Amino acid sequence: MHFETKAIHVGAQPDEATSSVAPPIHLSTTFERAADSTPLHGFTYVREGNPTQSRLESALAAIESGRHALAFGSGIGAAAAVLQALQPGAHVLLPDDSYYAMRVMAHDFFPKWQLTYDLVAMEDLDAVRRALKPETKLLWAESPSNPLMKVCDLASLARLAHDRGALFAVDGTFASPALQRPIELGADLVMHSTTKYLGGHSDVAGGAVVFANDALAEKVEHVRHILGATASPFNSWLVLRGIRTLAARMRVHSDNAMRVAQFLASHPQVEATHYPGLPSHPGHEIARKQMSAFGGMLSFRLREGREAAIAVVSKTKLFISATSLGGTESLIEHRASSEGPATTTPENLLRLSVGLEHPDDLVADLEQALS
Ligand SMILES: *Cc1c(COP(=O)(O)O)cnc(C)c1O
Repeated sequence: MHFETKAIHVGAQPDEATSSVAPPIHLSTTFERAADSTPLHGFTYVREGNPTQSRLESALAAIESGRHALAFGSGIGAAAAVLQALQPGAHVLLPDDSYYAMRVMAHDFFPKWQLTYDLVAMEDLDAVRRALKPETKLLWAESPSNPLMKVCDLASLARLAHDRGALFAVDGTFASPALQRPIELGADLVMHSTTKYLGGHSDVAGGAVVFANDALAEKVEHVRHILGATASPFNSWLVLRGIRTLAARMRVHSDNAMRVAQFLASHPQVEATHYPGLPSHPGHEIARKQMSAFGGMLSFRLREGREAAIAVVSKTKLFISATSLGGTESLIEHRASSEGPATTTPENLLRLSVGLEHPDDLVADLEQALS
């Protein structure tokens, strides 16, 4: 079955009790048991699992080509559960450009969990080879990366990790499973902030991990159950609803972002445009192989530096100055300011989440803001 069809039909069986076509939301925190105490429908308590979350998880596993999926209350909660499932003493390789809170998690919490880590340029396979240690248990990639839009070769990284006995994980948030499915390229697990494209409407927080392998899924599920980063039933329902339109939305996000990237790449005030869809992007050929389109995220740098970048943010009318991404509306962000004092993001960089508006209006908005 094709992606578009799975995204609409998996986990979408009409409700058994009422035949409603849209799925019900089960808000109950607890479930009745038989006289001998066995659960009547497999559910006992909301933190362990609930019917709305189960529907979402079956959809997530199907659209990522995985065997098992777990829904979480946030993307970072999903990532933390994977890290907390490792044994003490494990070494982890993280990308040098990644979602900011991943590096904060590593710095502030890995020592408490007795994990060590190094940051490496994941697009440089020789650098990754050199950075892998005998005790490396997890290679964590993010492609395209936040906010520099770096692309790494997921199939080659999977082979490198597996040759050294390490797991290979991918934060696939920017691409979404509509455009890139790392498990098909050899990854052991894929993590998503479902707050972004999977939810798709800037109105729900959530996370997901999809697994190629059941044993690992059981370990992470135990962390979720006992440490508590479960998704709420209502949030699970909203993410499931977002998945139904994901394929259609990602096509428009990608077309619009390409138009915006081409406009920016030819603008005299713009020093560099980071979008994997541009042939000038260093990861373009790899992106073409492992993604079916290039997505709605891009970043660009102003020749005249930080003040010029901040001035653009103050002048856009359609692009809203806000963090996050993946909603229907376009957003613009001075990323270094959002990340705070420890940022490694260039001060002249702006990040765009290109929404579903008409591309002519988006280009016109940027044109007037840059003039
Ligand atoms: C937003 C984001 C996260 C964190 O997800 P939350 O839902 O905010 O916890 C992780 N990785 C990437 C690439 C993100 O954009």
